Amino acid sequence: MANLLVTGGAGFIGGNFVHYWADKHPEDAIVVLDALTYAGNRSTIEGVEQADLIEGDIRDQELVEKLLREREIATIVHFAAESHVDRSISGPDAFIDTNILGTNSLLKAARAVWLDGDGMEHRFHHISTDEVYGSLGADDPAFSETTPYAPNSPYSASKASSDHLVRAYHHTFGLDVTTTNCSNNYGPYQYPEKLIPLFLLNALSGKSLPIYGDGMNVRDWLHVEDHCRGIEACLSKGVPGETYNIGGGEELPNMAVIDAICAEVDRAFEEVDGLAERYPDAPAANGKPTSKLKTFVTDRAGHDRRYAIDETKARGDLGYAAERTFAEGLHQTLRWYLANEDWWQPLLNR
Ligand code: NAD
Repeated sequence: MANLLVTGGAGFIGGNFVHYWADKHPEDAIVVLDALTYAGNRSTIEGVEQADLIEGDIRDQELVEKLLREREIATIVHFAAESHVDRSISGPDAFIDTNILGTNSLLKAARAVWLDGDGMEHRFHHISTDEVYGSLGADDPAFSETTPYAPNSPYSASKASSDHLVRAYHHTFGLDVTTTNCSNNYGPYQYPEKLIPLFLLNALSGKSLPIYGDGMNVRDWLHVEDHCRGIEACLSKGVPGETYNIGGGEELPNMAVIDAICAEVDRAFEEVDGLAERYPDAPAANGKPTSKLKTFVTDRAGHDRRYAIDETKARGDLGYAAERTFAEGLHQTLRWYLANEDWWQPLLNR
């Protein structure tokens, strides 16, 4: 595998992947290319010795070509994206620029450098989402790799578009590509605008927990470390040109996730010394249930009702299966945030 270029490696999943890869493959050099947008954070990968963070944009084709040549990159793992659906509704342009034009620019650079006949093996691995498949009814079968694309938000439309470009560079130019479409990730280092860290931090400061619509939208929840194992399996066993769905095997309505967060916060205040002093505004600091903060708000425009992943292909062809239950993963994640306020507090102050 040798040298990797990880785009978006200072973000949530990319950052976890950098930690994961450095632990599992200490002999490899990792070049992280990240524009350090609001979602990127240097401190996420600080201390990972073999990772070299280059602050730069995936749309800078000249820079990417230079990195591919000078660092002798054999593998690109492409995470960099605008990733928050709500932001894509209030401002779609950044999603088109980074997710579509940025991916195209990266593909152009890979084509220019890698397909010049140097005889080396290369892999462009693209990280995408289950949201490209659209929304399921309660009884519909889960998304498989052959489910037609039907993206509903500017975010998922931009990701769908990037998936098609990746596919096209394989079929038209012969670039060695794979794509994984994964479900909702959670775990350490997630920016506190996404459900789990947002609700935890709101609960700690006694702010309301805003629940979209009736709270019964269903998602499959994937611990980020399981996701990293799925990507690793795809890099070693994935067939060029193929796509694989990666899920956590945990289909849950939002309300079940929110209730589990509330219960975990209450439990943490009973079990972890000093939380009541650190977070005096939390209901749990005053013997009240966190669930009292639950508040229904107007639903997200175009909110997809249900996503579910059929991972038969990843299980059969890659040997992938999620290892963590949601209950274990949520417990570990919330305890990580409670132990790592130094990581998230500066983000709230930005
Ligand atoms: P994130 O928003 O936490 O991180 C994105 C990173 O990309 C940030 O570090 C940001 O600085 C960087 N970036 C943004 N624009 C850039 C640009 N033009 N050039 C270079 N770097 C840039 O996102 P995430 O949650 O870690 O998601 C990573 C990937 O996984 C994305 O492609 C996303 O679509 C996909 N995905 C995420 C989830 C999820 O649940 N978070 C689910 C399915 C798929």
